[in-house]
Amino acid sequence: MAAQHLKRSGIHVLVIDKGNRPGGRMATRPFEGAIFDYGAQYFTVRHERFASYQRAWETKGLVRLWEPERYIGQSGMNSIAAHLSQGLDLRCGVKVRQIYESHGQWTLETDFDETMTADALIVTSPVPQTLAMLDRPIPELNSIAYDRCLALMAILNAPHSFDVDGERVAWIADNHRKGISGLANSVTIHSGPQFSLDNWEVSAEEVAQRILGDVHATAWKLHRWKFAKPIGQFSGGRTENCFEVSSATPLILAGDAFGGPRVEGAAISGLAAAERLLERLA
Ligand SMILES: Cc1cc2nc3c(=O)[nH]c(=O)nc-3n(C[C@H](O)[C@H](O)[C@H](O)COP(=O)(O)OP(=O)(O)OC[C@H]3O[C@@H](n4cnc5c(N)ncnc54)[C@H](O)[C@@H]3O)c2cc1C
Repeated sequence: MAAQHLKRSGIHVLVIDKGNRPGGRMATRPFEGAIFDYGAQYFTVRHERFASYQRAWETKGLVRLWEPERYIGQSGMNSIAAHLSQGLDLRCGVKVRQIYESHGQWTLETDFDETMTADALIVTSPVPQTLAMLDRPIPELNSIAYDRCLALMAILNAPHSFDVDGERVAWIADNHRKGISGLANSVTIHSGPQFSLDNWEVSAEEVAQRILGDVHATAWKLHRWKFAKPIGQFSGGRTENCFEVSSATPLILAGDAFGGPRVEGAAISGLAAAERLLERLA
């Protein structure tokens, strides 16, 4: 969202993401002939500004209403990120290791020992990851923590109704009924924060067994979201939807920790960061 907004304003933007594709927690993957949304399951629309994006996406056939007030990507949530990344200068599979300010620029060092420089930077990784990369402490942000989430993608041999108890099974969605998977009974199960924390170090096989119980799955995969949902507040409050770091060279932090813990919050934060950067550059 930030990159597209800046690009429309004539700024040259390079997007770097350590993932194989852009989208982060708006994650969709195929396996064994099925397709799973395994991060964000849907998005809500509360801000008029975001509603104008949702309407444009709906007109293009990119998103559709799934349940009351819940929109989904027509072919999975990641398709929205894929759409947003069109036309951008994008480098995926590149992990930034360190960010430091030097001679009026930001220098980024990557895991490939590459060095890149930028006149200005927006960083949208989860806050603890951002703080670990940055050349300076930002004490106001230390209180931002995240709930974890174990996400199990499973192809069941028959429809099953799980007991949604808020922890072992906090959420279940059938990707086939949702309309994104061609294969019946391809379900995504999210565990709650306490179950996820308690079972974090447990092997994938054991986690699958604990979640599924005696329900038989013909195939399954587990994903561990270490930074699933921001739960702390930063002391500056959330009113501005992004955070400008005090530095000679512009650096804005954005993402759901600043705009609200959901897809819409991250989107609004990205737009706010781009606008703040444009003001700063002007
Ligand atoms: C299991 C789960 C279920 C959810 N369900 C919903 C839902 O139903 N509805 C809803 O609205 N929201 C939901 N959310 C929340 C929603 O997904 C997030 O709020 C939103 O996607 C966050 O977007 P973001 O851009 O702030 O962060 P992210 O999507 O986390 O993006 C951060 C990006 O930074 C990249 N990155 C991190 N470190 C580095 C590095 N060192 N170098 C390079 N790149 C790096 C990552 O690869 C990632 O792409 C869910 C989240 C999870 C995990």
